[in-house]
Amino acid sequence: MGAGPAALCIVAELVEQGLSVTALASHTPDQPWPNTYGIWAEELESLGMASLLGQRWINTVSYFGDGVGEQGLAPTQHHFDYGLFDQEALQRALLHRCGEMSWSVETAVQINVVGADTEVFCRSGNTYRARVVIDASGHRSRFIQRPDHGPVAEQAAYGLVARFSSPPVALGQFVLMDFRPDHLSENQREQPPSFLYAMDLGEGIFFVEETSLAYSPPLSWDELRERLQLRLSHRGVEVKEVIHEERCLFPMNLPLPDRSQPLLAFGGAASMVHPASGYMVGALLRRAPTLAKKLAMAMAVEPPLDSSALARKGWQELWSSELVQRHRLYQFGLRRLMTFDEARLRSFFATFFQLPREDWSGFLANTLPLHRLLMVMLRLFWISSWELRLGLMFGASSY
Ligand SMILES: Cc1cc2nc3c(=O)[nH]c(=O)nc-3n(C[C@H](O)[C@H](O)[C@H](O)COP(=O)(O)OP(=O)(O)OC[C@H]3O[C@@H](n4cnc5c(N)ncnc54)[C@H](O)[C@@H]3O)c2cc1C
Repeated sequence: MGAGPAALCIVAELVEQGLSVTALASHTPDQPWPNTYGIWAEELESLGMASLLGQRWINTVSYFGDGVGEQGLAPTQHHFDYGLFDQEALQRALLHRCGEMSWSVETAVQINVVGADTEVFCRSGNTYRARVVIDASGHRSRFIQRPDHGPVAEQAAYGLVARFSSPPVALGQFVLMDFRPDHLSENQREQPPSFLYAMDLGEGIFFVEETSLAYSPPLSWDELRERLQLRLSHRGVEVKEVIHEERCLFPMNLPLPDRSQPLLAFGGAASMVHPASGYMVGALLRRAPTLAKKLAMAMAVEPPLDSSALARKGWQELWSSELVQRHRLYQFGLRRLMTFDEARLRSFFATFFQLPREDWSGFLANTLPLHRLLMVMLRLFWISSWELRLGLMFGASSY
C-alpha cells in the first residue's frame, strides 16, 4: 500500500525475491513525489547508487556561532559530501525493478484479517486479498497500531526554491544547519529554535529552508516563514522570484509500531524516520532487501504461515532488538535536545561535529552497531562542557 519511496523500495525487493505482489496507492506510481530528498553521498556510495544523485556538494558547512564577530561567524566545515537525489531517476530506477506487476489506483479504507489472509477494502468498493499486507502509506497511516506515548513531536520547515538579489549562501555551497541567531529579537530567542538548511542549486537558483528540529506542538509555517524572511533581510538578501514553496511537517518520535499486529509496515508508517536527523531514504534502501528476503523465506514455509505469523516475521526483521535499542537511544537524545534553548543547541551541535567523522556520520545514518553508538554517545558526553552535560542528563528548559 502506497507509492512513495518506501513502497517502491520494498516492492522492488519483493519482486526481486520472485514473490507475487499487487500494489495499491492513491495515485499512479510514476506521479512525481512531492518532496526533495537529501542524503550524505557516502551513504549512497556504500549502496553502489551514487549515480542517483542529481546534485552533489563538496563544500558542506554549518554555523553554530552566535553570528557576532569573527568567531561567531565562522563556519564548521564538514569535509563530507552531501547530495540531493535525482528524484525522477530514483523513482524510475525503482519502478524499473518492480517490472510488470500490477499497480491499482485505490485508496484503502479498512484492513481486516480474514482466515489466514488479509483483506484490504478500498474507497472504490473493491477488495484485495493477500497473504500479507505491507502498509507503506506514510507517517500518518491510520491502520498501524502503536502505543500512545503522548503528543508526538514533529519537524516543521518552510522553504523556498528561488532567485535572490544576492546569493543567500556562498556559491557552490551546502549549509546543513545555520543556527546563527543574530537576526532574532530577545523574545524570539526564547522561542523554540530553528535553523537554516540551504544550498546553491546552480544557475542562480537557491533552496533556503527554515527548519525546526522537533517540537510538540510544531512550529507553525507562518512563524518559520517570518523567521526565514527576517534571516534573509538581516543578511541583505531579497527574494526576487519564487519557483517553488515547500511546507514540511512530519513526526520525528512516532512510537514504534505494535510488533504483534497482523499488518506489516515499511517507511514512515513503520516509524523508520531517524529520530535525530529526520532522514529515512538511506534506511529504506538499506533495509528493504533484508526484509524482502525474510518474507520470501517465511512465505515458502510449509504448512503455509498465516498473515499474523508472516507479519510477525517481518516485524522481527524490521525492528530487531538491536534496532529497537538504538531507536530508544536516539529518542532519548531527541527528547533532551527538544528542551534546549538556542544557545545550548548551538553548543550541542558544535560539540557533536567535533566527533570523528565516522562517528557523527554513522550516528546520523544509523549505521553504527549498538555498542559503537553507545561509545559515540559517551564520547560526546565526555567532550561536552559541563553545562551541556547537565542538559544531556536532566534536560534544560521546556517548550
Ligand atoms: C517535505 C519533506 C522533506 C523530507 N526530506 C527528506 C530528506 O531530505 N531525506 C530523507 O531521507 N527524508 C526526508 N523526509 C522524510 C521521509 O523520507 C519522507 O517523509 C518520505 O516521503 C516518507 O516515505 P513513505 O514512502 O513512507 O511515505 P510517503 O512518501 O508519504 O508516501 C505515502 C504513499 O502512500 C499513499 N497512500 C497514503 N494513504 C493511502 C491509502 N489509504 N491507500 C493507498 N495509498 C495511500 C500516498 O499516496 C503515497 O504514495 C522528508 C519528509 C518531508 C515531509
